[in-house]
Amino acid sequence: MKVLVINAGSSSLKYQLFDMDNVMVLAKGLCERIGIDGSNLQHKNLVKNISEKIEKPMKDHSDAIKMVIDALTDKEYGVIKDMSEIGAVGHRVVHGGEYFADSYIIDGKVKEALERCVPLAPLHNPPNITGIEACEKLMPNVPQVAVFDTAFHQTMPPKAYMYAIPYELYEKYKIRKYGFHGTSHKYVANEAAKMLGKPIEELKIITCHLGNGSSITAVKNGKCVDTSMGFTPLDGVVMGTRAGSLDPAVVTFLMKNEHLDVVGVDNLLNKKSGVFGVSGISSDFRDLTAAAKDGNQHAKLALDMFTYSVKKRIGSAAAVMGGVDAVVFTAGIGENDAAARAAIVEDLEFLGISIDAEKNKVRGEKTDISADGAKTRTLVIPTNEELMIALDTVRLVENK
Ligand code: ADP
Repeated sequence: MKVLVINAGSSSLKYQLFDMDNVMVLAKGLCERIGIDGSNLQHKNLVKNISEKIEKPMKDHSDAIKMVIDALTDKEYGVIKDMSEIGAVGHRVVHGGEYFADSYIIDGKVKEALERCVPLAPLHNPPNITGIEACEKLMPNVPQVAVFDTAFHQTMPPKAYMYAIPYELYEKYKIRKYGFHGTSHKYVANEAAKMLGKPIEELKIITCHLGNGSSITAVKNGKCVDTSMGFTPLDGVVMGTRAGSLDPAVVTFLMKNEHLDVVGVDNLLNKKSGVFGVSGISSDFRDLTAAAKDGNQHAKLALDMFTYSVKKRIGSAAAVMGGVDAVVFTAGIGENDAAARAAIVEDLEFLGISIDAEKNKVRGEKTDISADGAKTRTLVIPTNEELMIALDTVRLVENK
């Protein structure tokens, strides 16, 4: 079966077309500036290795999907003869609230629940829904599947996901920890079990998704039991531009003393904080590493704060699971930044974690970087959220 994976943002749309019989990507691309001047589609045919940039106005997501289908079926740079070859579409959806603990084939009920999740992710869920509706319109007979960033974390017990605020507020607004990056955590946890040659049901795995946004998840016997992100992706470890966990009183102090309103404080903590805010230089770890090497103390402090915050989350994940068999590093930093990995696992020998400096030099390749004899395995596993979405889509459509 060929599966089209769609990740729709407010003005962009990423896609990949998978041939799931051979588990390979046939084509992928990105529509940018949807609804804005200068819209364009960048398309890659991975079979023939051809790239094409098409500049054409796209007034909405429907126009964008039409252009994607035109590109996929183009005589020169396309990969399929006609749209009917697409067996199913898998959509990335950011928030599934408490409604979705798994991926779902989209029907009227699923769409109603998706709408009810909008207040929880007002920036992300509406474009996701727009992408789904555009595909439904253009491919009315093709099953559409929603795959949620939050679903994998729905197995957390109440003691992990509740906040200690009056219980009525949980009932009224569903304020609780949801967790994000679930598709990535699920994918790398399953890959880790394969690497270890053991059923995931017998393992305690800590997955560290470290990118622009970062989160750490404790996966016990194949199920998420705790994760570092919370009600929103602002919580948890220090991130590129997000503050991560801080004393909530800082928020009210800033509002009062910096005369910030709700939007102002939200912007400060989401876009101007994290390693960017501390260093005053960049949110990109390559820039920070270079600056720290040149002696910039703020860049060094930002990097130290990041690795320290991840280390603490690994400790707490091990504590809630009563041990750990493997730690997995994934996403931009986790896959590529050997120095960050080394700093994170330093002094974690008491958990059986110890890495081999030579093996740790790896970049973006599935590798066991553990030191010889280490009781706990440390693994680098490139994430592949699109493949996970395609796998879930096939699983659901074939078992319909
Ligand atoms: P996103 O969360 O947006 O999906 P990614 O997982 O792509 O982000 O991670 C992006 C981040 O990964 C960059 O901001 C950068 O800090 C980091 N990164 C990417 N490549 C490297 C590298 N070679 N060395 C260190 N850090 C890297």
